[in-house]
Amino acid sequence: MSLDVHTLFQVTVYVEAILGLLLLFAWAQNMAIRAVAWWGFAHLIRASSIVLFGMYGDAPDVLTIDVANALLFTAFAVTWTGARVFDGRPVEPVYLVTGAVLWLLVCRLPVLTDAADVRALIASAIITAYTWLTAWEFWRGRKEQLVSRWPAIIMLFAHGALFLLRTPLVALLPFALTKDKLFGSVWMTALSFEALLFTISIAFILLAMAKERTELRHRTAAMIDPLTGIANRRAFLQEAAELARRHGADPRPAAVMLFDLDHFKSINDRFGHAVGDRVLSVFTAAANEAMRTSDLFGRIGGEEFAAVLRNTRSDEAFVVAQRIRETFAHVAQEVDGRPIAATVSIGLVHCDGPVLDIAELLSQADQALYFAKENGRNRVEVASLDMVLREIGEASPAHAGPAGAARSAA
Ligand code: GH3
Ligand code: MG
Ligand code: MG
Repeated sequence: MSLDVHTLFQVTVYVEAILGLLLLFAWAQNMAIRAVAWWGFAHLIRASSIVLFGMYGDAPDVLTIDVANALLFTAFAVTWTGARVFDGRPVEPVYLVTGAVLWLLVCRLPVLTDAADVRALIASAIITAYTWLTAWEFWRGRKEQLVSRWPAIIMLFAHGALFLLRTPLVALLPFALTKDKLFGSVWMTALSFEALLFTISIAFILLAMAKERTELRHRTAAMIDPLTGIANRRAFLQEAAELARRHGADPRPAAVMLFDLDHFKSINDRFGHAVGDRVLSVFTAAANEAMRTSDLFGRIGGEEFAAVLRNTRSDEAFVVAQRIRETFAHVAQEVDGRPIAATVSIGLVHCDGPVLDIAELLSQADQALYFAKENGRNRVEVASLDMVLREIGEASPAHAGPAGAARSAA
């Protein structure tokens, strides 16, 4: 296959320009991700630098080498800045132009006027530096789990490495930076081709990253309760199903709790809905404090919450439930200067078996919660055989019969 390097240059200019415009178009559609605009401009700047490179021999070297390279480095610097902006880091105006300024100074150094290979090495080093910095920025942001982050990191790293290797490779293999040989060189063709493939792939991957982030944010928003910041009903049930799957592979004692704030309607009626909302946040904070980060906690209804505590013995779960109840009663005595005196009732059920049947456990916890309400509220009730029997009408109405290890506390 033979490729005419002039044609390749022209194709690259068009491709860079189109990619730049497409990225700007994508940004205009979703301006929330500003990095996409930076990446769009990077492609347009690179297109203009390649136009200048393509004029090599026909225009003064100061334009086709000095300025063209300065623009090329700026393009890579703009891509790097986009990566910083993407992960919420500030723009670094000084480092943004460092590559271009350094290059223009190098071009003015008399000692380097004839040392084309040294200048080529410096040029490669600048591009490698910006490319690796871009990869590093994406690596730093890896906590945000975007699948497309990884091909971006790998590709940027590889492209940077190739640029750095370019100069020693050129020295080893037949290549001369003379006007007549430059465009005929197989190296120029190979490098131009790689640059073209890289620019297409990186534009595609950067756009994929932006799109993936937008989707991730939408997904997260659909799973988080905006008032309390914890899992909503859907997320709670989904994550509980995931816990149940894990329990199947590695059964450990677990507890399920249901919480329902007491006389919440009356709190709304007396103090207003906004204060009611504050009370819900206060409860969330109190419950979160008593639980481990590994525990699953969600808001499953208006003033109803649920939790799944894996790897927790029944006595430990009871202590946690009591602590939540007591802490909330204490902190909700007064909310925003108002005498709220809110309390919570809690239904608790324990699971020692090999199967964590969330639906069944929630139903039993709901029974226990019902008894907590019936027995005066602001208390913890543990689901028991006694309750089941009472529910089906076979047991005495006594609260805690000898068969049921029901425990309650207020
Ligand atoms: P009980 O002790 O029996 O649980 O009494 P309750 O008043 O808490 O019971 P009920 O379920 O009748 O009342 C729940 C109230 O919670 C009714 C509803 O207006 C209120 N509520 C539901 N969602 C929200 C919310 O997001 N914010 C506020 N402020 N109130 C809410
Ligand atoms: Mg309720
Ligand atoms: Mg209630």
